Amino acid sequence: MTFHEDHPREACGVFGVYAPGRDVARTTFFGLYALQHRGQESAGIVTSDGRAAYSHKGMGLVAQVFNEENLSPLKGHLAIGHTRYSTTGSSHIRNAQPTLIETMYGPLAVAHNGNLTNALQLRQRLLERGVGLSSTTDTELVTQILAAPPEVWGSDIFQLNPDDPVPDRWMVRIRAFQEIAEGAYSLAILTEDAVYAVRDPLGLRPLCLGELDGGGYVIASETCALMTIGAKFVRELEAGEILRLDRAGVSSVRGKQAPKEALCVFEYVYFARPDSVMGGEMIHLVRQQMGRQLAIEASADADIVVGVPDSATPHAIGFAQQSGLPYTEGLTKNRYIGRTFIQPDDNLRKQGINLKYNGLTANLKGKRVILIDDSIVRGNTAGPMVQLMRDSGASEVHLRVASPPVKHPCFMGVDMATYRELIANKYDIPSICAKIGADSLDYLSLPGMMSAIRTVLGHDAGYCNACFSGVYPITIPNWLFADERDKTIFEAKLRV
Ligand code: SF4
Repeated sequence: MTFHEDHPREACGVFGVYAPGRDVARTTFFGLYALQHRGQESAGIVTSDGRAAYSHKGMGLVAQVFNEENLSPLKGHLAIGHTRYSTTGSSHIRNAQPTLIETMYGPLAVAHNGNLTNALQLRQRLLERGVGLSSTTDTELVTQILAAPPEVWGSDIFQLNPDDPVPDRWMVRIRAFQEIAEGAYSLAILTEDAVYAVRDPLGLRPLCLGELDGGGYVIASETCALMTIGAKFVRELEAGEILRLDRAGVSSVRGKQAPKEALCVFEYVYFARPDSVMGGEMIHLVRQQMGRQLAIEASADADIVVGVPDSATPHAIGFAQQSGLPYTEGLTKNRYIGRTFIQPDDNLRKQGINLKYNGLTANLKGKRVILIDDSIVRGNTAGPMVQLMRDSGASEVHLRVASPPVKHPCFMGVDMATYRELIANKYDIPSICAKIGADSLDYLSLPGMMSAIRTVLGHDAGYCNACFSGVYPITIPNWLFADERDKTIFEAKLRV
């Protein structure tokens, strides 16, 4: 079971390394270890020594999947790795990544962060042409699309052309994949002798490049993974960019471009680690600014500011700075209670949120508290959290949320795919406040959130904020809206 927090869960973290003379499996292990927050269901590593590929995958946290015994056979000088949370495909070892197949041109392994919104059509096309599939993941689709003979697509975009300025078979196929795929993908791809990194044309999911001391390069979903393994941050990949790491170093092709980028703003709200750099600045700074903006828009008469640890701590610090109220620790989190296969019995189940958080009564007793959370998605933990504050002595609890109400589903690789699961789609703010039992409730506005991001980054690269605004950066096929009610709401919104 998972001790659920009310947060959306990111699909995955990806990592890749090309570094002759280095233990690349170990480097990948520690890279994945730093990306653990992006997926806790399964983990995997594939390496290559230029002749053969070696793989190990398993269910659970990175540290549960790997040990000395299964890491040491992963030989070679290039590797990719993956940590997974399932948004398409069930939570099963069959769906763990990276995928690995043998092709006419040697091994091909793929690790994917994101969701393809036209996966159904692509799947159909492959099956019709006799390409079998053994899992339900988009990642297997990506792998088979790259491996399939060009005839499957009836198009010469998959064909290696001698006049092409990109004289690399896999680069050509990746570029062709970008032409037929829609949705979100940040990919780490391993072939016999190179590692490729790919971002979708909208840049929905992040990906960055780092350089290792002593030679070699790495790519990772977030810069925190570079810091962990001692790599120097070089740059973030551009939207649509295809990067190749090999013995010649790094080469890059621009790939398919979109008119405007659309990096997921939830990376700034919650997903990314606060010490990662995204858009040129540290996530922690953006979150503090969101907290400041929230204080400008929605302060309250209170004594102290408390953040829900750990994710809302920077937002709460920013709120306190702006409001002039003292920032105070009010909750202690059990940091080791991620996933467990031991079910609590009925008595423990009643403990609910107390299994994860305890109130610091010495700090809360008799205090009017502004409690800061980074987001409310389903609304299933806000009520117990407010009650925990009261039980711990708070005389008033004013809940402030450092992002706007989540009213729309996400189809780009985040586990909130229907309208009906989102509390802000069903109820207005006063009703949510009454349901969770807070003395008051308010959210950061959408313009306020976007201006906080712009203020810190100093530019506006283009963002997806569809789960807040309902404005999607890509056309969402109707079948993705799970039931009739959802379609009706969506079509009504389109008419407006
Ligand atoms: S809909 Fe929301 S969670 Fe999904 S990509 Fe856009 S901003 Fe991120």
